[in-house]
Amino acid sequence: MSTTDRVLLLLDDPTGLASVGIRSVDPDSEHVSVLDLGVTRGDGIFEALDAINGVAQSLEPHLARMARSAALLDLPKPSLDVYRAAVASAITESTSSHLLVKLVMTRGIEGGTATTGWVYAEPVGDFTAARRDGLRVITLDRGYRHDVAHTSPWLLQGAKTLSYAVNKAAVREANRRDADDVIFLSSDGYVLEGPNSTVILQFGSHFVTPATDQGILAGTAQAAFFEFCDASGNSTEYRRVTPDELVAADSVWLASSVRQLVPVRELDGVPRGFDRAVSAAALEYLLGRRR
Ligand code: PLP
Repeated sequence: MSTTDRVLLLLDDPTGLASVGIRSVDPDSEHVSVLDLGVTRGDGIFEALDAINGVAQSLEPHLARMARSAALLDLPKPSLDVYRAAVASAITESTSSHLLVKLVMTRGIEGGTATTGWVYAEPVGDFTAARRDGLRVITLDRGYRHDVAHTSPWLLQGAKTLSYAVNKAAVREANRRDADDVIFLSSDGYVLEGPNSTVILQFGSHFVTPATDQGILAGTAQAAFFEFCDASGNSTEYRRVTPDELVAADSVWLASSVRQLVPVRELDGVPRGFDRAVSAAALEYLLGRRR
């Protein structure tokens, strides 16, 4: 990766109240204090999106989700205008036509009043094989009931926080079991989401995803997939999903920004099929979006 591919923009004030300044700095130098609560506690929020041929995909849904995450963490409101401007600058500054863009806001230095924020962009990796051939996925218990966001909001389920150590540990567990990725189940037996993805099931021309009132993220790639379904005359539904339905479905996909759409080709050690035509057409739609 060359240095002109990658762009790091520091925000003078992520809330935009004191300043709307955005500074381009060397991504290979250090910029964040070791006293920053984002570093010491994972106390902050982020978003990750694609920019393809100059277009930041699903930018507004990502910004809206960032604002929701900030509210769940009692963080000051991020200035969506400042982040929007920084994303636009990152896309303009980078020489790459397909970028992963990360938007970050932390609670700042302990005892201080200022938040810390930045936008970082780098070329995306190659997901061709996973998108075409699918992934081996295991189900793992997340240890929370499906209604945990309602009963225990302090657990921050449904917020996109910087604390992804658990999500990373789950993928390592999958790797130990000779699999690639994970679908989390609630402790009371419902399908939730992947550590970095939303689950989509196909039953003929009907497409289903777990309802977002279950302490999971509202996926932007899944929302775009449902747009594709609606446009092609299929029906869509948000509801509770059981693990048995993962087995019974014609196809299961993991949808997320950047990797976009990957089919599940093995579930808990059992090979399973997927609709290759729908998978390819939906992927083309997702990659071809102009917003
Ligand atoms: N669920 C979790 C826990 C995630 O981390 C992500 C994205 O990284 C998603 C779902 C999918 O969200 P999106 O499609 O907006 O990338």
